[in-house]
Amino acid sequence: MIAASPSRSGVLSVRSPANGEPVGEVPISTREDVVAAVTRARAAQKDWAARTLAERCAVLRRVRARYLERIDAVVELVCRENGKPRPEVLLHDGLPVLQNITYFTDHAERILEPQPIPMSLTLNRSSYLHFVPRGVIAVIGPWNFPVNLTFCSVAMALIAGNGVVVKPSEYTPLSANLVRDIFVEGGVPADLVQVVQGYGDVGTALIEAGVDMVEFTGSVATGRKVGALCGERLIPCVLELGGKAPALVLADAPLPRTVEAVLWGGYANAGQACASVERLLVHEAIYDRFVPALVARVKSLRVGDPSREEVDVGPLVTERQREVVERLVDDAVARGARVLTGGRRIDRPGYFFEPTVLADCTPEMDIFNQEIFGPVVPILKCSDDAQMVAEANRSHLGLMAYVFTRDTERGRRLAEQIESGTVMVNDVLATQAMPETPWGGAKASGIGVTHSDDGLRHLCQQRHVNYDLTPWLTKEVWWFPYRAADYPRLRKGLGVLFARGLDRLRRLVG
Ligand code: NDP
Repeated sequence: MIAASPSRSGVLSVRSPANGEPVGEVPISTREDVVAAVTRARAAQKDWAARTLAERCAVLRRVRARYLERIDAVVELVCRENGKPRPEVLLHDGLPVLQNITYFTDHAERILEPQPIPMSLTLNRSSYLHFVPRGVIAVIGPWNFPVNLTFCSVAMALIAGNGVVVKPSEYTPLSANLVRDIFVEGGVPADLVQVVQGYGDVGTALIEAGVDMVEFTGSVATGRKVGALCGERLIPCVLELGGKAPALVLADAPLPRTVEAVLWGGYANAGQACASVERLLVHEAIYDRFVPALVARVKSLRVGDPSREEVDVGPLVTERQREVVERLVDDAVARGARVLTGGRRIDRPGYFFEPTVLADCTPEMDIFNQEIFGPVVPILKCSDDAQMVAEANRSHLGLMAYVFTRDTERGRRLAEQIESGTVMVNDVLATQAMPETPWGGAKASGIGVTHSDDGLRHLCQQRHVNYDLTPWLTKEVWWFPYRAADYPRLRKGLGVLFARGLDRLRRLVG
């Protein structure tokens, strides 16, 4: 039964967040459109799943080739629709997709081959897992990496033998349509990948339309709703939610590398990444050298319209997002934070905000607890490693964390104490483009992982087959009938099996 009915009809009109110019529009899907999309994907999935894994991977390799051919069109569209600088689109939306398809087409046979389960006690039986496509996967995504997240999720779902229906963000609908076109141009059957467009209620309608699994990337608030909807339907979901990544700058941090890493980690994509550096914890021994060096580099960032100028930092995606950033900065300043650079919106068309560094922050400030999702890095001065780890773990979120030190061993020891899906030592953001590694959050940052061998297997139903090695035996000892005379023998058997040492010997001869 479909409870949700997309409430707004008409079109989604996209305007560039950098200059307000129209970029394009798409029709909003009705409830009937959503149901029809799932039905078409389900029908196409049957044939797709019947192909061998090698055949499916061969198609995905052609999709990769087509993606490379269309990469300039992708860059142009994301630059205009999303406001990212062109090189950043290549790095954030181009490279990870190519890495992802290459890894999973090269390794899917190994990852999805049936897995024997070594039996420890039941010696006359054998077990193995085999992996069966789930059916139709709903991919519901955000606006901040509109091609990367959609492309990788769809590619992995297809390799695993599924059909897909994508519901992109209302702010980046055109990118999703282009992604779908590239899959089809690469040879994926036209009905296998569907896109439905609209607001949140279209996402709800999609979950309610009978999909077999949901892969959701977005905010914690929406993630809770999606998780509840999936729970009611008893369908699995992967939830990739918000982050509040701490960067721990230890006393022995390599200065130039740490400055450059925090600069990129804090301000790439105008700070609108779930893995952005959102809390900077700096040891007092290095504070006076590190902070001025960082501020000097932040001042050098060029902000502007990436479709017209050579810039490092583009706009925020919406005015609403800019207001969130502004509110958090104003609140922090009102409560004693010091603006070292930036701090204000930029008075020009588009949703620009100055790259900002805030010193003298305290852990109680909203800016240290809520996702900023903007080009702002708040700093807390710390006096030892233990305090840094405690501060890092104070957040309700735990997607990414970073540790900077010359001593990699020490960095790893600290990394293991941080409650986070991933911790990188002396680097930022980059594991999203390493498809071998799991991408997923601890605490309220999510449930489950995308990417990695486990991520691909999770897009399949894992089925277990257990078979016997002794078909000539008439029966197992635990089958009917239950005779009183068998009781002492069974009891003795349990003792022999599970007692240890002398006790076991005693039970054997007793
Ligand atoms: P939202 O949660 O607002 O939206 C995500 C998607 O869900 C959009 O397509 C949205 O549609 C849709 N949606 C909204 N309401 C519902 C609903 N009730 N049922 C089903 N779908 C719904 O997130 P944002 O788009 O603002 O993305 C930013 C967030 O995403 C940040 O918190 C960021 O940290 C997180 N994120 C996490 C990543 C990770 O890997 N962990 C990666 C990237 C971002 P619509 O846009 O039309 O409202």
